[in-house]
Amino acid sequence: MSTQAARPKLKSVAVNGERLWHSLMALATIGATEKGGVARLALTALDGQGRDLVVRWASEEDLLVTVDQIGNVFMRREGRNPSLAPIVAGSHLDTQPNGGKFDGNYGVLAALEVVRTLNEHGIETEAPLEVVIWTNEEGSRFVPVMMGSGVFCGAHTLESAYLATDRDGRCVRDELGAIGYAGEETPGAHPIGAYFEAHIEQGPVLEAEATTIGVVTGVLGLRWYDCTVLGTEAHAGPTPMAERRDALQTASAIMQEVVAIARRHAPEGRGTVGMVDVFPNSRNVIPGRVRFSVDLRHADGRTLDAMEGELKAFIARSIQTFGLDIELAQVSHFAPSVFDSGCVQCVEDAARALGYSHRRMASGAGHDAVYVARVAPAAMIFVPCKDGISHNEIEDAKPEDLSAGCNVLLHAMLAKAY
Ligand SMILES: [Zn+2]
Repeated sequence: MSTQAARPKLKSVAVNGERLWHSLMALATIGATEKGGVARLALTALDGQGRDLVVRWASEEDLLVTVDQIGNVFMRREGRNPSLAPIVAGSHLDTQPNGGKFDGNYGVLAALEVVRTLNEHGIETEAPLEVVIWTNEEGSRFVPVMMGSGVFCGAHTLESAYLATDRDGRCVRDELGAIGYAGEETPGAHPIGAYFEAHIEQGPVLEAEATTIGVVTGVLGLRWYDCTVLGTEAHAGPTPMAERRDALQTASAIMQEVVAIARRHAPEGRGTVGMVDVFPNSRNVIPGRVRFSVDLRHADGRTLDAMEGELKAFIARSIQTFGLDIELAQVSHFAPSVFDSGCVQCVEDAARALGYSHRRMASGAGHDAVYVARVAPAAMIFVPCKDGISHNEIEDAKPEDLSAGCNVLLHAMLAKAY
């Protein structure tokens, strides 16, 4: 078949949005909560049932199913040239305890809908296509998050993942076996030619701008710190204002600066103080010690360096101004993830060709694609979700947006595989 002659025909191919929606709703009955959400924690019996349903649907499409040792499931549609690395799309099926119907589940079922559409139209691809389910993305029952994709790309060893236990002391190795998803394949031994992940945005930007498609260029890097301010505890009544060494007064100035730094580096800068401990935390005692968390994020590593520099400079000035001891300790960091420019372009080209409003954006949250991007070219497609709410039973998305994201996925995959 001549590729040139066949291409025009492909332009008009579209997914079946109704079928995608019905599949999402059918999957959401497994672990359904009273408020309309889903509680399907990783490697529970419900997770097993959710996987079984998707695998059954894949088998109905004649996909070849393989499972690796950490339970990642690959469902393959053969290409004309089986020796080519497959073009892969998917996400996760596990949810938070108070999760919704779309987080993760959409990415898996959108990939399945791509396959169903191609089968229906009898369209072959040069490279094989695969639908993937990554194990334990949420990290709610077992830590770390993004476990399956993390083991796949070598960020964690299989042994360490197997030993992770839940609150009841049950371990990943046993629970994988219990639901029948302890596979044979060595994680990471599976080639990936390119990877695409469709996902709800989990933030408010697309909805607020009435934009249908987020062309995701990468994921924000993050740095976590603990900041401790040491003052002197004293009685709130007898101590004149000029004589005080008030740790909370100084700490609150630094907290304001954390937010100000992020605003100076808009739109991708983020600055959050989410945890504060005040000692002794008594209403008539001037605080002698305050410890608080700092979370700084940005899509660009050098900008993140600059943000850290601004925070340290402010702290140095605060030490001089207030005369207190202030310590800043970094406790964790993730470098920004920059997606493959070719894959990002495929997503953008597909959105433009299909006439959907779109914008480039960075993801504020982590996803399996972050790890997959370490071993294969990858990109993501975002669609709006209602009020930007996710990790919540009221998480919602419009069928037409989900369908649009799936069409972009279809054409991005075809651009790589055809
Ligand atoms: Zn997710």
